[in-house]
Amino acid sequence: MSESIREIGERMIEEAAVILPAGPICDDCLGRAFARCGHGLSNSERGRSLRTLLAMLGRSGKSGAAEISTAETGIAGVGTARSDTTRTCWLCAGLFGRVAEFAGRAAVMAEGVEFDSYLFGVKLTPRLKQMEAFFDERFSSAHNEPLKHALNREVGKAFEAQVGRGTVAFTNPHLLFVIDLNNDTIELRTLSLYFYGRYCKLIRGIPQTRWPCRACQGKGCKGCSFTGKQYPESVEELIAAPFIAASTAKAAHLHGAGREDIDARMLGPGRPFVLELLSPKQRLLDIASLQRAVNTASAGKVEVSDLRSVSRETVAMVKEVRAEKVYRARVSFAREISSVDLSNALSSLVGTIEQRTPVRVSHRRADLVRKRRLLTAGGTLLSPCEADLVLQGESGLYIKELISGDEGRTVPSLTELLGVASRVAELDVIDVVSASFPD
Ligand SMILES: [Zn+2]
Ligand SMILES: [Zn+2]
Repeated sequence: MSESIREIGERMIEEAAVILPAGPICDDCLGRAFARCGHGLSNSERGRSLRTLLAMLGRSGKSGAAEISTAETGIAGVGTARSDTTRTCWLCAGLFGRVAEFAGRAAVMAEGVEFDSYLFGVKLTPRLKQMEAFFDERFSSAHNEPLKHALNREVGKAFEAQVGRGTVAFTNPHLLFVIDLNNDTIELRTLSLYFYGRYCKLIRGIPQTRWPCRACQGKGCKGCSFTGKQYPESVEELIAAPFIAASTAKAAHLHGAGREDIDARMLGPGRPFVLELLSPKQRLLDIASLQRAVNTASAGKVEVSDLRSVSRETVAMVKEVRAEKVYRARVSFAREISSVDLSNALSSLVGTIEQRTPVRVSHRRADLVRKRRLLTAGGTLLSPCEADLVLQGESGLYIKELISGDEGRTVPSLTELLGVASRVAELDVIDVVSASFPD
């Protein structure tokens, strides 16, 4: 049977009459204990009303009940150990009196930053956590609102009023402020921006992402002219530059659906990727004009297409897709072969390939034998010692080794089937195929 209004009222008064004498408590903390009572009221309004009501009833804390003490809580400096002149709230230590200050500090941090949504989070000190746990245990109420919850909301409301824009968002807020009470700092975490598209790499010799100098690991040395980079440019940097300039982002990452070798081109419709801009100050970007800016500034090197805004989830999707790759390979042979030899060898090559980790990547990959399928293979002789091949393979199939045999580590290989040493002279990726890509 549910309580009548009269019973609820009596219970609230009894509960408040126990809490009030326990020690000085602020209206916010008193109100938090009754947070689900009275829709549309703030905790401080609830607290103030109860305090007034109890005073009118002559029950405002002179009941003779003992104040909470250190002996009782096990928390130093509580109750009897506290000076009577500092009447700060024993629960929050005056935190709710600092709401405007926290909001003001956050507003300064948000100056010049574009955002629609925000969220506040707080890291409590161990002492505040102890007091909160003690309070919950001692004055168990079904209506308690946790300190964190109440503080985050109050600071958020004050912040919104100060900056005059934004709404609170509990998932993916543009701005997340973390108030750390352990060191009295506020950290601002800005939601990254994400753009999906495809890139073509029209020249050989540039890596997909920024590659730290091998000699100095990126710190900067004479060998890399103090750039910290092994290669002066990368696909990542060429695409990111106009985006970083337009958004005033701190940095950018390119998340590719796999990567081609540095000496391979990426042609055809291009390779899917997500560009992530970290800590952008501007969020409303003209994507079409930025795409044009990339293609103009990197003409002849890198070309992007179909750029569009996506959510963070697309990053994991693009990186995890096991896409099939289509390659064009210019292959040279140690001695002359015939077209019939070539087409016979290519048909026998299609199927399951066992590849032990290639020597050239063994420093960064576990030494394993992987089974990958070569799905299709075709090609024509350009001369008795040279052919142009088109090969489609499963994700993870190493094409250079499929041709050379990697000294017997890849079986079968074109070298083995022809009985003639074969090697890739030039490699292009001409498609990256998966039904999962969002284009
Ligand atoms: Zn308080
Ligand atoms: Zn260096």
